[in-house]
Amino acid sequence: MLINYAGPEGTFRRVQFSSLVDGTAHTEDFRNKIVFLGVTAQGSGDRLFTPLSSGIGMSGIEIHANVARTILDQDFLVPLSEVGELTALAIIGGLCLLSIRVLRGIRLSGALVLMGALIVAASFVALHLGELWPVGTMLVGLVVSGSIVGVGEYALVATALRKSERNQREYAFRVQAIAHEIKTPLTAIQGSSEIISDHLVPDEQRSQIAGMIHKESKKLTQLIHTFLDVERMATGSLALEKQQLDLAPLCQDLLERAQLYSARKKITIIADVPHVTVAADGDLLSFAIYNLLTNAVKYSPKQTTVYLTAVERGDAVLISVADQGYGIAATEQRKIFERFYRVGRGQAASEEGTGIGLALVKEIVSQHGGRVEVDSREGAGSRFTIVLPNQN
Ligand code: ADP
Repeated sequence: MLINYAGPEGTFRRVQFSSLVDGTAHTEDFRNKIVFLGVTAQGSGDRLFTPLSSGIGMSGIEIHANVARTILDQDFLVPLSEVGELTALAIIGGLCLLSIRVLRGIRLSGALVLMGALIVAASFVALHLGELWPVGTMLVGLVVSGSIVGVGEYALVATALRKSERNQREYAFRVQAIAHEIKTPLTAIQGSSEIISDHLVPDEQRSQIAGMIHKESKKLTQLIHTFLDVERMATGSLALEKQQLDLAPLCQDLLERAQLYSARKKITIIADVPHVTVAADGDLLSFAIYNLLTNAVKYSPKQTTVYLTAVERGDAVLISVADQGYGIAATEQRKIFERFYRVGRGQAASEEGTGIGLALVKEIVSQHGGRVEVDSREGAGSRFTIVLPNQN
């Protein structure tokens, strides 16, 4: 049974013996009252700290008065139940977790300190209402949850730092790669313009070189555009504008565009795309499929066939581009999706490229919640498949 304290030291009326002796206190005052007799001392032996002590302990006589009052009024303090205690600890843990999700740094520390203060204040109010809360346990709970939160925040910051370092390294690599890619057309432009400035060059050759400068500078612009697209997509600033798209007309359009490109190698493109609907960003998905089609043409010998197909399979929509081209060695199949990676050997070496197309395709498809698969054998051709979630 727990003593319920009526108030701080001095709540019960105190009368000194000397005042009885000198007559300043009246014996009438004690009628119908329970009187406790005792000696109060300022020394620590007589003083105890109670939940209502503020700085100085309560004297033994006052404590006895509180004990008697508690028993007579049957007004015992009720300790918080185990369920209540567990609930309180769960709430403290939950609030700590919530804080780490929405707050950082000094605000997070402030929130934890505020929670500690609230626990003490609420316990004090509960005490006055006759309920004894385990303040110590609750504060330990807060410290433990706070420490876990602190470790969590440290882990988050460390992860973010590692990510930013990785991004920085990747960025530096990209800058180097793009500088390298820009150098080639730039060198050609520089060399050609030097030749043009020589007055002895015949007019016919001059216009030929001018044409080459024009072609190289266009290539340069294209390269920079593609690079910027990758950048914007990687930083998430190229937002998807998804809508329900029928693959049949979209692929028909791409087929017509790709046929203009494949004509130079007399490559036939056959499309078999039914009316399948996907939720996708039309421009980006077209870009990805067109890239696979032009790659199939680029990396195939003349007079071969490229197939563009689409099928629904369970919870996925599969869009495939298959060719009868040079194929890709198993060791290279993963690397070709890396930015600026080009196989650059064998017959494929003569084809122009930046090694950025497939990286872009992969990025686009993964932004749509899908993946790109490759199935290829050297000398036998390749099949690239875009797997998108089927929302039908
Ligand atoms: P690029 O075509 O500009 O080099 P990509 O990222 O589109 O860049 O392709 C990367 C590499 O993957 C290419 O250099 C090529 O070697 C290989 N590749 C891509 N598609 C095919 C394909 N259909 N057949 C054979 N090799 C391919």
